Amino acid sequence: MFDYTLCAEDGAARAGTFTTPHGDVRTPAFMPVGTVGTVKGLIMEEVERLGAGMVLANTYHLYLRPGHELVRRLGGLHAFMRWDGPILTDSGGFQVFSLASIREIHDDGVEFQSHIDGSRHAFTPESVMEIQRALGADVVMAFDECPPGGADRATAEAANRRTLAWLERCRDRFRELEDESEGPEQALFPVLQGNVYGDLRREHARSFRDMDDWPGYGIGGLSVGEAKGDMWRILELLHGELPDDRPRYLMGVGYPDDLLEAIARGCDLFDCVAPTRNARHGTAWTSEEGQVNLKAARFREDTRPIDPGCDCYTCSRYDRAYLRHLVVSAEWLQVRLLSIHNLRFLVRLGEEARRRIGDGTFDGWRRDWLERYRKQRSPA
Ligand SMILES: [Zn+2]
Repeated sequence: MFDYTLCAEDGAARAGTFTTPHGDVRTPAFMPVGTVGTVKGLIMEEVERLGAGMVLANTYHLYLRPGHELVRRLGGLHAFMRWDGPILTDSGGFQVFSLASIREIHDDGVEFQSHIDGSRHAFTPESVMEIQRALGADVVMAFDECPPGGADRATAEAANRRTLAWLERCRDRFRELEDESEGPEQALFPVLQGNVYGDLRREHARSFRDMDDWPGYGIGGLSVGEAKGDMWRILELLHGELPDDRPRYLMGVGYPDDLLEAIARGCDLFDCVAPTRNARHGTAWTSEEGQVNLKAARFREDTRPIDPGCDCYTCSRYDRAYLRHLVVSAEWLQVRLLSIHNLRFLVRLGEEARRRIGDGTFDGWRRDWLERYRKQRSPA
């Protein structure tokens, strides 16, 4: 049911097709984040019109509310959120480590307090597989320990050991669940850790490959506060360590420039809450002026679309002057219109990268694009 076909390469950049039970994902691809089973403010038909092939949902949030068993009884996440395309759920690990207020990490798992009502919970590698089975996403992620950015080597090493031990338990429970119940076809991706330590990253990747033939790989523990140069160095290293014929999902990235830099280093799938979060803050991406905040006075009578080169609904219909008015007035429509633009901006970047990889012009295009994008105007 799951397959990844590499269609073209340009340097380390890859264009491929990831086949899932709910359809094909043409990579490189940005996946809109539907944290609690909704891409904030948009109906799923709008998400589909953005060209998004696959969406992401968060295990931690859905486990706490409305609860994975309820989602299962209601037909699983696809039926519950009215999305027939592929879905990926994360393991909840990142949210436990970043959101939950109190936590204790043992070799067995993690105890934490809900950020909603303070109630106590525990995640183990096994329970995280059970929750993700109940949710029924196409791709499920293994439970990993993600140490904070800037963690010292000993901490990163310990987290790697634990993540590896947890991966074996995840895989065993995942297989048991597959055998014992009629349920969705799912693929389990392991999550590589190792922080910015090249040898730890390499060792982790090799241990994963020795353990099993995984249908894809998650790359975790990047974009968590380390220097950009460290992220690019690790991705370049991993490009040589990961199998060519499996998709690579760079977790939590990104912003448009990061997306292009990561595509250039061999990554295929991406997710980030930035498009919708920025929309709530009145911020939009443009290819000529970089990131702009529409609150700026210089947009007061600007009758151009956010990005003249963009084909999204917002850019085809509205000008900056009106959008600025919505932002200044804190109107609900601001979030919808800017989310549509920001999400389409990233999805389109993936589509364009794919085309460029296909015709062998990716690298020059990427350099020009980044130079233009980074030449930001100073705020008015
Ligand atoms: Zn647009």
